Amino acid sequence: MITLVRRCAALCALGVLTTVLAGCSGDTAAPGRPALPAKPPATAAATASAPPTLTPGPSGLTPVFMNGSRAHGRTVALTFDADMTADQGPRAAAGERFDNPALVATLRRLDVPATFFMTGRWAEEYPAQAKDIGKDPLFEVANHSYSHHAFTGSCYGLPTVPAPRMRTDMERAFDAFRKAGVERAVPYFRFPGGCYDRQALRALAPGVTAVQWDVVSGDAFATDSGAVARQVLDGVRPGSVVVMHCTRSAAPATERALRTIVPKLRERGFRFVRVSEQIGAAGGAAGATGAAATAGPVEARS
Ligand SMILES: [Zn+2]
Repeated sequence: MITLVRRCAALCALGVLTTVLAGCSGDTAAPGRPALPAKPPATAAATASAPPTLTPGPSGLTPVFMNGSRAHGRTVALTFDADMTADQGPRAAAGERFDNPALVATLRRLDVPATFFMTGRWAEEYPAQAKDIGKDPLFEVANHSYSHHAFTGSCYGLPTVPAPRMRTDMERAFDAFRKAGVERAVPYFRFPGGCYDRQALRALAPGVTAVQWDVVSGDAFATDSGAVARQVLDGVRPGSVVVMHCTRSAAPATERALRTIVPKLRERGFRFVRVSEQIGAAGGAAGATGAAATAGPVEARS
């Protein structure tokens, strides 16, 4: 499981350690993490009024969602990290593009629901796109921190957010979404680099569900869209959550890969859903009931 966490971290820490990313890009995630315990699915009314979340762990830790049920239909959630770190403003000013409008357009053209894990800094840089994604019922906007700094002491060279500022960093991202015009961000948080420990899980606000993944797309710094597509197609199982990136400069092959991935998965009978649907089906119910899954990932990092 340590291997899984390292792989997760590398693939999410865009722009940090290219060599690590390249070294990990050939891996296919198969963590074997069991699906969450069964609970009755949230009612349609509940999910319409508020996104489902999971209840905290026994000691109040933020629950962690990795994948949906393997036994309730062939769903798959494509997730896109919109990465931009707090210090990348000068690079954006110099012309580097951390957005990917073509990817968003392709998702719409193919009618693929998706969840965007957006940093607050990204929303500040691209407020019109953030608002546009946020108002589209096909998509949902979730939180990937404001700064994209690490929530653990060691995470592939990312600067570290001190524990007392972790919650503030997350809330600053929600503030940035509101300022950009995103009216209903979902209360899901993806740790920068995929790195977390018990301290980080204690730091987040109540009512937030952390969301990891079980399939690494390998799109970070990839230029071969066919290889990315193959890695996803090899890794997806019913209930999978796939991590990809909505960051043109650091994930230039993702949009092309989607054009293969989407029809192939549909041929196999998969239905694309947002993460909120998987959490609801796994037991989340608008913050009222659900199942925590904190033990495994925390132990994996110890
Ligand atoms: Zn990231």
